[in-house]
Amino acid sequence: MITSLPSPSAASQWCDRHRNEKISIGYVPTMGALHEGHLSLVARSIAENEVTCASIFVNPLQFNNPDDLKKYPQNRQRDIETLQRVGCDMVYTGLLAQFFPEVEDVKQIKMNDPGPPGKGLEGKFRPGHLEGVVTIVERLFRTVGTCRAYFGEKDYQQTLVVNHLAQRLKGEGLIIDVVPCPTIRENSGLAMSSRNQRLTENQKQVASNIYQALSRAKQSWKIGQHDPAALQRQLREQLAHPDISPDISIDYAAVRDQNNWSAHTPNTEISNARALVAAYVGEVRLIDNLYLGGR
Ligand code: AMP
Repeated sequence: MITSLPSPSAASQWCDRHRNEKISIGYVPTMGALHEGHLSLVARSIAENEVTCASIFVNPLQFNNPDDLKKYPQNRQRDIETLQRVGCDMVYTGLLAQFFPEVEDVKQIKMNDPGPPGKGLEGKFRPGHLEGVVTIVERLFRTVGTCRAYFGEKDYQQTLVVNHLAQRLKGEGLIIDVVPCPTIRENSGLAMSSRNQRLTENQKQVASNIYQALSRAKQSWKIGQHDPAALQRQLREQLAHPDISPDISIDYAAVRDQNNWSAHTPNTEISNARALVAAYVGEVRLIDNLYLGGR
């Protein structure tokens, strides 16, 4: 039977109790509306740790668009049942104020700086989003304590800022081992996302072009196209194909060196390439990325 806890303090006690008994803890933070992508993280955690906990918290701090927050899908009871079915040991939630007991009003919450990995891409197109992510993730990590924490590469830049946060916390003795996990996709290639629930079947078809474009960029890299500007052009051209262009609007289509993220300038030579796309299909903003290769 899964233990479902209503507050961060109850979750902390549960985690402390297990850690005191030298039981290893795996942790999967989520915003709910769970799908196979989330469950792959839970399965990995179960395989690598003695107990696994998850959190379901739709973090208002990371929504730069209030309408997006309002429309974010939620189904708490179904999520808890799903987590129980797959063997998760504990799930917790809480109210924003409970994560920040030091402030009288949540408007006084001091936002964290995501650091160099937060520059550009999501940092540019969703101002305040990554700040909101690292601000809550720090509190989620402090709630659970030393653990392995599982994150999906679908949110690639997020894994980088969370890693950066983990390095800072390590300095004060809070050891979080951040484990990046592969992106789980629909048969069409569309990256699974809670937001996909808001797409029509036709829009899902259009959205699958993001993965097709990323895959073609990977092919191009494989046959020797290593110029980031040319690869970016190719991605954009593919996404601007007349069959789909009326339904898709690109925020960015970028190629970056994943090991040299912050040193990025347009002419930097790339050794470990990752292509990243953010685009709107209808009103729904989707992100995806793919490792192109190394040299
Ligand atoms: P979210 O609930 O969207 O905040 O996601 C919670 C975690 O699940 C994050 O670490 C995401 O990167 C991860 N995740 C979301 N979608 C996928 C996917 N399709 N494959 C793998 N991990 C995912």
